[in-house]
Amino acid sequence: MAAAEELDIVIVGGGICGLATALGLHRKGIQSVVLERSDTLRATGAAITVFPNGWRALHQLGLDSTLLSTAIPWQRAVDISPEGVAHEIRLSEEDTRCLRRGDLVEALANALPLQTIRFGCQVVSVNVEKSSSCAVLQLHDGSLIKAKVLIGCDGLNSVIANYIGLKPTRFLSTCSVRGLTLYPNGHGYAPKSLRVRKDKHYVGRIPIDEKTVYWFVALEWIQKVDAKMPKDPASIRQLALDRTAGFSKDIVEMIENSDLSSLSLTRLRYRAPWNLLSRSLRRETITVAGDAWHAMGPFLGQGGSVALEDAVVLARCLSKKICNANMNRSRMHLSTQMAKDALDEYLKERRRRVVLLSTLTYLTGLLTIEDLSLLLRLLCIIIFAVVFRDRLNHTRYDCGEL
Ligand SMILES: Cc1cc2nc3c(=O)[nH]c(=O)nc-3n(C[C@H](O)[C@H](O)[C@H](O)COP(=O)(O)OP(=O)(O)OC[C@H]3O[C@@H](n4cnc5c(N)ncnc54)[C@H](O)[C@@H]3O)c2cc1C
Repeated sequence: MAAAEELDIVIVGGGICGLATALGLHRKGIQSVVLERSDTLRATGAAITVFPNGWRALHQLGLDSTLLSTAIPWQRAVDISPEGVAHEIRLSEEDTRCLRRGDLVEALANALPLQTIRFGCQVVSVNVEKSSSCAVLQLHDGSLIKAKVLIGCDGLNSVIANYIGLKPTRFLSTCSVRGLTLYPNGHGYAPKSLRVRKDKHYVGRIPIDEKTVYWFVALEWIQKVDAKMPKDPASIRQLALDRTAGFSKDIVEMIENSDLSSLSLTRLRYRAPWNLLSRSLRRETITVAGDAWHAMGPFLGQGGSVALEDAVVLARCLSKKICNANMNRSRMHLSTQMAKDALDEYLKERRRRVVLLSTLTYLTGLLTIEDLSLLLRLLCIIIFAVVFRDRLNHTRYDCGEL
């Protein structure tokens, strides 16, 4: 068997969370390696709404000034009911912006030292070596990597979450088409998010800048019809057009004129909030962050912002231990116990936040897309009134300094 390469901190997954975690560590002078299965940066999903809590995390990572100029600010949403009644609500008290995913992942990746991200590296399995307590990763090409600390930021189908014993993610009864549309002469829409509902489908539209809008179509998942989800962009666009035939002309034209290369179709998944209470979130020096831990539906648009918060807290907890232990050393020293303590501190700090936000997202999703009995609907509303009375509270969260 080939000898394993030995590394200190390995992050599996080069999405928002993995890159942000590596950047947080880099800002604290700590090297890590990100293993990403794709051959290039992935920006699937076209765009992402970043709420004030996410901007606070980006500020800690030193990227807010780079990214602020790429998207216009907004705070309010207009919901249009199936009967055509418009209802305006405030979604945040500070500026929220919708970023092109490409802008966000490029900004994160460009701020990292060369060689940090290794593309084309798919992790297929993980184990712990008893003698050293190191994680041993096997890649798709058979090569092995030994890591003193392993952080799974590998999203919905996380190999690492599976290894540490988290229950699998569940499917929602909805799928979502997402895309971008460019209006060369300007779209003229107000800086607000728009959500229009008809039958079982709804459409969202958010301006990114004066000429580009991000949109999504949330479609009911019909098992028989949708078992074979289209993968090519033209068929995805046609599916969105078929299901939005009764919507207003501007919405239909927006979908018709969308940038084919930006389109994607995703079946929505989440990790049940009660599964997040699991004690087994760390196995030796292995843990998870971002969607790998707390995948949630997109009903509050918070998955990415919370992944950025995880990254800042994780980098802070690891750097505190590592910096204290390395004051008089030239080479990084990281004992197994130090690593375990740092990961426990991270999990302790994040657990309440993650469970509450996942629960809020779950309940919002139930009320938005599921046909609930009157009793269940009433129960959801009571939980909202008792536990989540302040509907903007989650956007005020501050993950603290790096
Ligand atoms: C329809 C929809 C709309 C959304 N809208 C918003 C929004 O507006 N705002 C918001 O904040 N959030 C939104 N989200 C959620 C957000 O996209 C996620 O929470 C966020 O992308 C999580 O980032 P991540 O890095 O944890 O995971 P991912 O982005 O999934 O990244 C995981 C990475 O790991 C890699 N990987 C996976 N397995 C392996 C492996 N075995 N080996 C190596 N690499 C691997 C993948 O290639 C990928 O690059 C939305 C989600 C959906 C589905």
